Amino acid sequence: MIAEITTLTKYKNCEKTLQNAIPCVGVGLHSGRRVHMTLRPAPVGYGIVFKRTDISDKDNIIPVSQETVVDTRMCSCVGNKDGVSVGTIEHLMAALSGFGITNILIEVDSAEVPVMDGSAIDYVTLIECAGIVKQDAPLKAVKILKEVSFDDGKGSNVCLYPAEKGLSIDFMIDFAKSKIIGRQEYSISLTERNFKDAIAYARTFGFAQEVEMLRAMGLGKGGSLENAVVVDGDVVLNKEGLRSENEFVVHKTLDAVGDLYQLGMPIIGHFSGVKSGHMHTNQLLRQLMADKTAYAIVNLDDYEESLCQALKRSA
Ligand SMILES: [Zn+2]
Repeated sequence: MIAEITTLTKYKNCEKTLQNAIPCVGVGLHSGRRVHMTLRPAPVGYGIVFKRTDISDKDNIIPVSQETVVDTRMCSCVGNKDGVSVGTIEHLMAALSGFGITNILIEVDSAEVPVMDGSAIDYVTLIECAGIVKQDAPLKAVKILKEVSFDDGKGSNVCLYPAEKGLSIDFMIDFAKSKIIGRQEYSISLTERNFKDAIAYARTFGFAQEVEMLRAMGLGKGGSLENAVVVDGDVVLNKEGLRSENEFVVHKTLDAVGDLYQLGMPIIGHFSGVKSGHMHTNQLLRQLMADKTAYAIVNLDDYEESLCQALKRSA
């Protein structure tokens, strides 16, 4: 059970932060270094902000937005004008999105967030242990008004469509080279209730040959069977096997949830991802926010009330 403290708020949908600060230690996926991370409560309007506690001679504050994403090659990485960055933020971002946390300061002493077990489940536990506080400010959401899409011309694309309520996601992957992954499709209508059970558990995955290649590039040093599903041809190398038959596509959905939360508020719309990754979702968000006719920022309480009224009128 999550300890949800209600401050005096008249809003049904409100901003949220943590009740207490909570520390954790883990391994950085690429550096292989021990990383200390502390999640801290933050005031209304603060947003999602990283702080590099190991850096003091430069600006060490990095607010998350689609504009501050500086690298999407292996993970989603945010950075500031001083070139200070934090990578592998997507699974933590997904957990924040899952709980509707809008204000938080995340301190890390490394250039990447600890990868934990490669899924979002440990971040979910951390947030539950810290507790969640409702804050006295109305929650805003990004309502998609028209279809926006990004296609890389190489068979991968992403789309956001208008929808009446909440965020729903369709994802498709197709790994012809590996029978164990193959073609997988997954659909979900996200709620705070189903995030934890439906998608938080799904681990990141990679191929044995890629692991070798990454190591040669000095990356993936922290990667192991402890924090990723490793596929070799048609075989999963992890002794415990998969957590679900479709863990691969569920993980891609988890990544999309985390990346979409770069906006810092919930989306009212439908997202579709076809063989897409971090770069595609970030490009889509940049395109969306650059077109003022494609979205509206709505007060979620007011929006839900207007939906109710419209339903009553049509009944
Ligand atoms: Zn991932």
